[in-house]
Amino acid sequence: MVSTTRHPGHEAGIRVLVAGAGGAIGSFVLGLLARTPGVSGLILVDPDTYETHNLASQDIAEGDVGKAKVDVQARRVRRINPHLEMTAVRDTIANVPFGLVRSADVILAGLDSLGARRDVNRAAWRAGVPLIDAGVLPDKQLVRVSLYQPAEGATCLECAWDERHEQVISIEYSCAGVAATRSPAYLGAAAASLAVGELAQRFIQTTEPSEGKTQVAGENEADQPTGGVEIVHDLAGRASRVTRLTRNPACRFDHATWDISRQSRLTPGSTVAEAVSSLPNGAPIGGAPSEGFTLGVDGKSFVRAVTCPACSASRRVAARLEHRLGRRRCGTCGGEMEPVGFEMTSRFDVGTAPKRTLRSLGLRGGDVVQINAAGRTARVLLADDVGLPVEAAHANDTDEQGSDSHD
Ligand SMILES: [Zn+2]
Ligand SMILES: [Zn+2]
Repeated sequence: MVSTTRHPGHEAGIRVLVAGAGGAIGSFVLGLLARTPGVSGLILVDPDTYETHNLASQDIAEGDVGKAKVDVQARRVRRINPHLEMTAVRDTIANVPFGLVRSADVILAGLDSLGARRDVNRAAWRAGVPLIDAGVLPDKQLVRVSLYQPAEGATCLECAWDERHEQVISIEYSCAGVAATRSPAYLGAAAASLAVGELAQRFIQTTEPSEGKTQVAGENEADQPTGGVEIVHDLAGRASRVTRLTRNPACRFDHATWDISRQSRLTPGSTVAEAVSSLPNGAPIGGAPSEGFTLGVDGKSFVRAVTCPACSASRRVAARLEHRLGRRRCGTCGGEMEPVGFEMTSRFDVGTAPKRTLRSLGLRGGDVVQINAAGRTARVLLADDVGLPVEAAHANDTDEQGSDSHD
């Protein structure tokens, strides 16, 4: 569900990935970014569909209810600025191909769940892309914008989290999500304005800095490249507060930016055996597939069996990434089949099916495949990614869905 429009000869500028593009903050962000000189490309990411209650808090019209958020917003952005290069992904940030994330110059997130914010934090760090995270707290009339720049010793979004945040994620309940739906539109719009203003100040070279610019981050950001910063504007108290954020040594995240091999010519059409043997010289592993070689995708699992919740029928399937499984109909009752949890695995054993293509495992252009052997891991970015080709990669993706076999 990715569509891209690219206009030849578009002006040079930055490309911004907006996570939560259709939401209480994102829907306002897009209109502002589309009108910001120096922004030449947008990547819209949002898995949701508009519902009636969104009308009160989000920048949409009544006719948009029932439609995919990214579709509605992509149309709107095109009307405002038809010259923008635009990619729309109707999915969660965790499922966006890494190559597409890395093609962004900055990520702007207006997300209403902690789990999604954790995912966008990790995607930003893996790709080494700066992150601006915006939020609102309606009960206290607060608007918050935080800036994180992945670097040695720098703070990340999760550095400020503790046990309670982890618990919230684990029970898949989002305080912030509940708050966001009750949030007045002006708070989302205020957060959007602050976030886009921060983006323009830090990432777009426009005019010379003006005198008396006392708001925003205070000192020069460039002097503190490893520091995160949080800006909170209190509408009730008519005050702003700027806080420097520091790395938490006990943070649960490893703060690693991936070192991705690009020399490889791997595509989704490559076989599993080719994936292992094609690693460039200097990669930690490589050679003919043998005992103990496995493939994986960070944070994702392979499904090996599906079951029907309605009639309990189950069958084995050729291993495939869970988030790319697609719909599978039950042969007995026609219901939709679901993965069997205990049959999932994070590692695909190369030796079991060396001739299978990466595409048949659910991999797409722009994904990063992880190749493991003898306790070492190499990561390779699959080609035919980034921008236009992603559409083709996704369109082709269903090719091998029906080719289940018992492996
Ligand atoms: Zn951290
Ligand atoms: Zn069934």
